[in-house]
Amino acid sequence: MSAHPGDCCTTTQTDTQRRTILKSALGLAAFTAVSGLPWMMPELAEAAALTKEQRDAMTPDQIIASMKEGNERFRTGKPTPHDYLAQKRATVGGQYPAAMILSCIDSRAPAEIILDTGIGETFNGRVAGNISNDDLLGSMEFACALAGAKVVLVMGHTSCGAIKGAIDGAKLGNLTGLLDKIKPSVDATVFNGDRSSKNDLFVDAVATTNVRHTIEEIRRRSDVLAGLEKDGKIKIVGSMYHLVGGRVEFLS
Ligand SMILES: [Zn+2]
Repeated sequence: MSAHPGDCCTTTQTDTQRRTILKSALGLAAFTAVSGLPWMMPELAEAAALTKEQRDAMTPDQIIASMKEGNERFRTGKPTPHDYLAQKRATVGGQYPAAMILSCIDSRAPAEIILDTGIGETFNGRVAGNISNDDLLGSMEFACALAGAKVVLVMGHTSCGAIKGAIDGAKLGNLTGLLDKIKPSVDATVFNGDRSSKNDLFVDAVATTNVRHTIEEIRRRSDVLAGLEKDGKIKIVGSMYHLVGGRVEFLS
């Protein structure tokens, strides 16, 4: 196999073409409406954050599917290589997040990381025990009714200290009132066995009940969000993040 006289030039041209194609693909993802989206095309996610056109083209179900795919990438050790500086630059002029996530303050459950999302893709409310209150409801109403997010994801997690505190009836300053919001979930959890904070299975069962309770509270106390959901404009869904294994389990 002898080298063709034009090999060097052919190779150069091919490399240039490849770079051009890649650049065009990234530009397409960054600046125009396309059927796919960064969450759905992780190879393009580093190009920029969500555009308004991309976000508006998504259905709530597609957004939920994208979050599941993002968690799968995280869980299997294949997260998107985010270019945070590019995402930062792309979002200076505006933001078009697809979802609002309400999760616990636990340092082991950072929503953006475990769902493999970037800057400008989700609103994030964090409070111990992922409960709702007036201010969080207002934040969620802003996210969905004014800023266009289409999914509210309430995310609890296993081994939650706030849940354990509520089970134990812990009292400390302002924390007492916060834990009072979790106590109805302790009482409502049907569980055969040791109902103490020492029992991980009970703690996680209460945490799951608490996620469902928070969703009920959102619907009951926010006419704005309940109305958007009734009209099919948003979906309000619950999930549990498993510290062991890293899976976000979506509750039906
Ligand atoms: Zn927690």
